[in-house]
Amino acid sequence: MSIVIAVDGTAASGKGTLAKKLARHFSFAHLDSGSLYRLVALAVIETGCDAVAAAQAIDLSRAGDAAIRSDRVGAKASEVSAIPEVRAALFKFQRDFATQWPGAVIDGRDIGTVIAPDAAAKLFIDATPEVRARRRWLELTGLGIRKDERELVAELVARDRRDRERQVSPMVAAADALLLDTTDLDIDAAFAAALTLVEPKVGAALAARPRG
Ligand code: C5P
Repeated sequence: MSIVIAVDGTAASGKGTLAKKLARHFSFAHLDSGSLYRLVALAVIETGCDAVAAAQAIDLSRAGDAAIRSDRVGAKASEVSAIPEVRAALFKFQRDFATQWPGAVIDGRDIGTVIAPDAAAKLFIDATPEVRARRRWLELTGLGIRKDERELVAELVARDRRDRERQVSPMVAAADALLLDTTDLDIDAAFAAALTLVEPKVGAALAARPRG
């Protein structure tokens, strides 16, 4: 039985960085499920193809492509992710990933609720839109990209609203998720806080796992 840590949360909340660090800490595999929706969005933007067809024939070879990280692709990902058939097409890959030995950390929006409802530990990461926009602005500025910070706040709020209000698999903290607000935390402090929440749960799951 593999152990899953589900890391859901709002856009640009730092959940991806935390998930990556948790995976490294426990030597678990890591999946950024948002990259799947971003790949579908990129295919739609680049070729004008149908989102469902793109999800059914997803090309994972571009998962590391910087092009999927743009805010335009993020907004499009939020649109295509509301289509039930797109979610259905990406479901099995995520479910299979969750069975990796010795464990998997998956970040997204519906990991604790839909993809891995039996996850050993579930986190829901959030921070104020202003702080999230500031972090994103600093990241973009570092890349030499100029963008108005207020515009970033508006985009994040709009994306969260769409993700929260969609009919299928909306972004919502699972009833048994532990909430982590990183508004006043830098990445090291956020990771320390995440570890404090997750470690007892992972420890219990490891102890309960049959040996051999
Ligand atoms: O996490 P990230 O910001 O890269 O996700 C991009 C978009 O993909 C989200 O705004 C959301 O609409 C969608 N997504 C989703 N379910 C997931 C992960 C991402 O709907 N598990």
